[in-house]
Amino acid sequence: MTTRTFTILNVEDLQNNRDLVRRILESQGYQVVDAVNGLEGISKAKAINPDLILMDINLPDIDGFSVVTKIRSQPKLAQTPIIALTARNVSDDVERAVAIGCDSYLNKPFGVKQLLDEVQKFVGKQRQEDEISRREFYLREHSVTLVEEIERKFEELSVVHEELSVMHERLQRLDQAKTDFISIASHELRTPLTMVHVYTDMLRTHPKLVNDESLTEMMEGLRKGVNRLNDIINDMISIVRVELATLDLAYTPLSLQSVIAPVIKDVKQAIEERNLTLEINVSNELPYVVGDDAQLYQVFSRLIGNAIKYTPDQGKITICAAVHQGDTPLAQNGAQTLARADQFIEVSVADTGIGINKENQNNIFEKFFTVEDVSLHSSGKTQFRGGGPGLGLTIAKGIVEAHGGRIWVESEGYNPEGNPGSTFYVLLPAQETG
Ligand code: ADP
Repeated sequence: MTTRTFTILNVEDLQNNRDLVRRILESQGYQVVDAVNGLEGISKAKAINPDLILMDINLPDIDGFSVVTKIRSQPKLAQTPIIALTARNVSDDVERAVAIGCDSYLNKPFGVKQLLDEVQKFVGKQRQEDEISRREFYLREHSVTLVEEIERKFEELSVVHEELSVMHERLQRLDQAKTDFISIASHELRTPLTMVHVYTDMLRTHPKLVNDESLTEMMEGLRKGVNRLNDIINDMISIVRVELATLDLAYTPLSLQSVIAPVIKDVKQAIEERNLTLEINVSNELPYVVGDDAQLYQVFSRLIGNAIKYTPDQGKITICAAVHQGDTPLAQNGAQTLARADQFIEVSVADTGIGINKENQNNIFEKFFTVEDVSLHSSGKTQFRGGGPGLGLTIAKGIVEAHGGRIWVESEGYNPEGNPGSTFYVLLPAQETG
């Protein structure tokens, strides 16, 4: 931005005064044009249209008042600031000067600072105004550029938005198709399976077969297979329920012991067969959890079942429970689904098994996710590293979240030789006290 030079017309008959004023003003960067008498003052004012006029009132030809009157009659000079230079001892000069249109006056003799202050009042103001209008201009230009930029970005965003909507729609369709598939497949499978189940039971107890040992063995195999298939189909139905949020939860206050006891009863045999130690540190002083006991049974039976499955023989499984006040950092961590409760019960199921890699610790809660090579799975439900369809933790997560709780795992990593173990945590809202 260049600062423009201001032109000052100095109408003064005395050479010394003219030179002095010129020197003072030029030292401050003003351009000075002299007029040695009134007539020259008028013609130069018209010719150069100055930014300011210094007008000596006592001029030899026509007096300064007449010059000012003439200048003010020119439309383009009507607003030009004029400072009258008056004689100190003639008091009504000032009044007359102001009356005929001078903007200000200086009594002669005046000091350098006085002159500069007075001049600056007018051209300084103009300078400021110029700067403001220049700034306004740039701002306006800048805002136009900004608006254009925003319009461009908006257009780009609209395109991206459209693409995203198409993709989102496609994903929704895919997800729906997948859910529909699971839903239809599981229901369609259930009916024939029930028939197989019933007929297998009838055959097992059929008088012609009960005494044939080889047939009994085959029947037992058939029964196990049918039960396993039944479990898988039930899991698929549970997944659909969790995903469609159609789990009907019957909430009641439950002691944690009453939730865990039936699970322990059901896994007792497997624990013995696998030579595992089970330690339970659950105080009966704990507040009750509020939940659906059948669904919570599902959660803990999956966690304890997995602990058995992924821990080698002679290993140990430890179940603990503790109270957590509502606003603990633990409760806030990833707490999208966490209910607002004053306190939570935190249950942990720790094992001394093969562990889980850090990068899989979230994935294992996804549908059909299994860490190990599926082809290497043994088929038993409680056998070491016995495979499953990868639905158990997804169901557990869905149930815990439907209760307004949270589930997560901590493990140093996956190491089937070192067996670092895994600890699964479940946070459930506790019953309000008082
Ligand atoms: P699955 O039917 O395969 O057991 P889950 O959803 O119950 O399905 O578990 C998913 C995967 O998480 C398992 O395949 C296993 O790799 C891993 N996992 C679950 N629990 C444990 C555990 N206690 N120790 C080590 N790995 C586990």
